[in-house]
Amino acid sequence: MQSDVLIIGGGPAGSAAAITAARAGLRVTMFEKGPYGRDKVCGDGLTPRAIAALDELRIDHTVAHRIDGLRMIAGKKERELSWPTTARFPNHGAVWPRRRFDNHLLDVAIASGATVRFESEALPIIENGRVVGVTVGEEKFLAPFTILAAGAQGMAAKMLGAERDPNETFGLAIRAYAPTPRHAERHLEACLSLSDEHGVAVPGYGWMFPAGDGTVNIGVGALSTMKGFKKLNLNTLLDQYSSLVRDSWSLGDYIEKPRAWRLPMSCIRRYGPGWVAVGDAAGFVNPMNGEGIDYGLESGMLAVQCFLADPVTAPESYDRKVGERFDAFLRTGRRFSFLIGHPWLLKPGLRIAVGTQAAADITLAVMGNLIDSSTPGAAGRVMKLADGALRLADPLLRRTRAKA
Ligand SMILES: Cc1cc2nc3c(=O)[nH]c(=O)nc-3n(C[C@H](O)[C@H](O)[C@H](O)COP(=O)(O)OP(=O)(O)OC[C@H]3O[C@@H](n4cnc5c(N)ncnc54)[C@H](O)[C@@H]3O)c2cc1C
Repeated sequence: MQSDVLIIGGGPAGSAAAITAARAGLRVTMFEKGPYGRDKVCGDGLTPRAIAALDELRIDHTVAHRIDGLRMIAGKKERELSWPTTARFPNHGAVWPRRRFDNHLLDVAIASGATVRFESEALPIIENGRVVGVTVGEEKFLAPFTILAAGAQGMAAKMLGAERDPNETFGLAIRAYAPTPRHAERHLEACLSLSDEHGVAVPGYGWMFPAGDGTVNIGVGALSTMKGFKKLNLNTLLDQYSSLVRDSWSLGDYIEKPRAWRLPMSCIRRYGPGWVAVGDAAGFVNPMNGEGIDYGLESGMLAVQCFLADPVTAPESYDRKVGERFDAFLRTGRRFSFLIGHPWLLKPGLRIAVGTQAAADITLAVMGNLIDSSTPGAAGRVMKLADGALRLADPLLRRTRAKA
């Protein structure tokens, strides 16, 4: 079967691409390995940046639970801040449980004219180094442009060489849902001072994301740069965190067994002849907060826009454009993750991060994915300075981490 665009994976990145392509009149088929209604392990938090991307896609998000800001906790310090008003992003985010959010996007893609095949694991067909389509079992589908939107890398990514860089940081996170009378609160809560069961500071955070439906999404995430990461037991870390917040949130028992998943933060190769990678498949997750839905939506749209502009040069132009938009910031984030992988730097760093209003404003902008290379003002300047300083310190930070 011949299409214009094929998409491997039906998460937010794939759906954003499918919606954009179908609305432009392209013949698009998206393959999702899971069934209709599959769930994705996530914190379900939509940053203001994600809301801006949904607005660009003309997706009605009023059914989601609106979030006005973030409460950051580091040790005994606590600061509650509202999302800032900027020219680029709205001043609110949302919590939208992924089972409902992803289905909504899939429904819009189908209503826009995309064909979606569920329970279909798609693998690229590579002929003379060019992706010419995909196979699903014995079936063949052909198109000049294939978008890899398969999330944390699997077989399709392996075939394309779109794997995580083994020398770079990645994350692991676990989440559960639990009932709470505080489910309708309009602030996310992030506890930045996590420790494992041996008291080792964990570069990561614990979150309480109220879903507005009687439950809160509770979770913890950690970066691979921490000492003892391989032995870290996420279930134990989550239980420890939930015992910390149980009373203040009057938290009930987990509704289902906690589930963990990977957070890819790099990608060796994100494009090639006939294909590009978007979202998690391209490693677009902010190492400083583990969030990637917004980048997934943006990169999904961008991939199709490049194809519409010029099908022949789409892979190269996509690589250049996502590079301009995300690379500098995500590189700084990866370097930062090696810095906070040192416990003796993490603890004072956290005190600084929420210690003063000015520092907390910047932390807030980072946690909301509101910064990239074109961000004006203090947050943008601080990121540029941090990028310069971390570039110099990076080799040392990586070397000393290896000895840890
Ligand atoms: C515990 C946890 C908490 C998180 N919390 C947040 C948060 O609060 N906010 C935020 O912004 N981000 C969060 N993230 C990150 C976020 O979940 C991802 O960035 C986001 O899901 C990326 O979307 P995607 O479409 O690229 O990939 P995915 O959502 O992973 O979708 C990929 C899809 O591809 C399908 N697939 C895979 N291989 C194939 C194949 N060969 N053929 C067909 N289908 C295939 C999969 O079944 C899946 O449905 C969290 C991640 C974790 C693990």
